Amino acid sequence: MVEPDISELTGISNIFEDDWTRTIYSVDASHCCVKPMAVIFPSDKYDIQEICSYAYSREIPITCRGAGTGLLGQSLSSGIILDFTKKMNKILEIGNNYVIAQPGVVKAVLDKELAKKGKFLPPDPASSNYCTIGGMLSNNSSGPHGLGYGSIINYVQNVEMVYGSGMLGHADCNEYDEKVSKMLKFISSLNFDLKSYYPNVNKNSCGYRLDAIFEKNKVNPQKIFVASEGSLAVVTSSRMSILDIPEKKCLVILRFENILDAAIAVPSILEHKPVAMELLDRGSILEGWSGGDCGDSNACIMFVEFYGSDNSIYDKVSNFELAMRDRVKILESGYDQKSVDRAWNERKNSLNSAMKKGMGSRKPAGIIEDTVVHPDILYYYLIFLLKALAKYNLDYVVYGHAGNGNLHLRPFMELGSSCSNSLMHVLASEVFSYVTKVRGSISGEHGDGMIRTKFVPLMYGETMYDVFKQIKLIFDDKKIMNPGKKIL
Ligand SMILES: Cc1cc2nc3c(=O)[nH]c(=O)nc-3n(C[C@H](O)[C@H](O)[C@H](O)COP(=O)(O)OP(=O)(O)OC[C@H]3O[C@@H](n4cnc5c(N)ncnc54)[C@H](O)[C@@H]3O)c2cc1C
Repeated sequence: MVEPDISELTGISNIFEDDWTRTIYSVDASHCCVKPMAVIFPSDKYDIQEICSYAYSREIPITCRGAGTGLLGQSLSSGIILDFTKKMNKILEIGNNYVIAQPGVVKAVLDKELAKKGKFLPPDPASSNYCTIGGMLSNNSSGPHGLGYGSIINYVQNVEMVYGSGMLGHADCNEYDEKVSKMLKFISSLNFDLKSYYPNVNKNSCGYRLDAIFEKNKVNPQKIFVASEGSLAVVTSSRMSILDIPEKKCLVILRFENILDAAIAVPSILEHKPVAMELLDRGSILEGWSGGDCGDSNACIMFVEFYGSDNSIYDKVSNFELAMRDRVKILESGYDQKSVDRAWNERKNSLNSAMKKGMGSRKPAGIIEDTVVHPDILYYYLIFLLKALAKYNLDYVVYGHAGNGNLHLRPFMELGSSCSNSLMHVLASEVFSYVTKVRGSISGEHGDGMIRTKFVPLMYGETMYDVFKQIKLIFDDKKIMNPGKKIL
């Protein structure tokens, strides 16, 4: 085969083919490594059209990249990488209840601009100082406040995109292009209940989110692009709903004797309707944590946050504290923004502190790091998980969004050894089988990427996986859009 010559793309500046750039873009926040053939910083959708048409005619893979903080190798490929952070990073419009942004806008930059108007876009990944809107949308990101506010899929009103063929596309609930129309016709022709194949949890980034397209009296075709990991189209801008920043906040920090005590308390804490309920177990609690007596290595901490627009929040919090007092130690209740922010900064560092516990090639490994089960059964799920880890003699770190039943658990393993790889596969198969049996999801917010895509058929079954394959073909007939992600 003749090697494609990227310099044929004469109308495009900012093409990098040097080894240094390709090496930098060969890694992301996962354990994976794939060297791309070139990296391009497109300036607008017309650049992207030209690049896609070129790649389409030569069947070269196109992979989009934001900040590369994806944890499963989503932004890696051997083809052309499109990086939006340099040129397509503008906030295009802020309205009273919406924002329109290009994909390369960093979430923290958007947060700052929206805060000036008393607004916010609620999904708040711990990586928000770096991650981009394009990456968040394509992974269906959420974060600690996903309990009260849901994932970004709840906020996406419109998507503008370029398909692999170079065709421009758009989708919102009133208007959409011909490919989107074909997808809707295809879904309508299916003679089974789509939603029955989806998990019974309130966050899910696995597979294509067909279940989110149809609401009672509304069709939201734009939502097919959320969680699709750039495997259907390149998103060039999106309009998203924004909300008023709540006036009052209170964060209560609880200390449990161990993680099972914390998990069994989850349903009763949920009755108090917090907006966030976050668990930090050993390993993920920063050593510098000053608010608690964490000498006991089994102890764990739970952050429970309440929002409100009036003084009724104070009654809500004192009722909660009263109910908790006999069961756990209340370490802190913070009402002022400074103490709330300090504590959340600690929580944001959970993954970093977990990573620091690794030594040499022995690292906390990601594959079962994002499972979700219904919070009512989190306790039983944890018993199963701890038994499975003990069976293979694996130490672990765990933290996560307990209120959603979404745990970020990482066993320590020798990365790269074939023995660890096969153990990881065995463990993942066992854990994912359990999760699917209880109608959970193998990914609540991190997505499938290179690492988990092979488990998508296990999660949804062959019937739905065949539907996903058809969806892929409708949008990307030559399968050049981020190959190996979502569909093998
Ligand atoms: C320390 C740390 C903490 C994290 N905490 C959280 C958390 O709390 N919650 C959470 O949900 N996630 C979390 N993550 C995972 C990750 O940060 C998020 O998924 C994030 O939204 C990815 O954004 P990114 O800009 O880095 O995307 P990338 O990793 O660069 O890309 C992610 C995916 O988006 C696609 N993509 C990017 N731009 C486009 C585009 N324009 N069109 C089509 N596809 C596109 C890429 O191809 C890829 O498939 C964390 C990661 C780290 C490292």
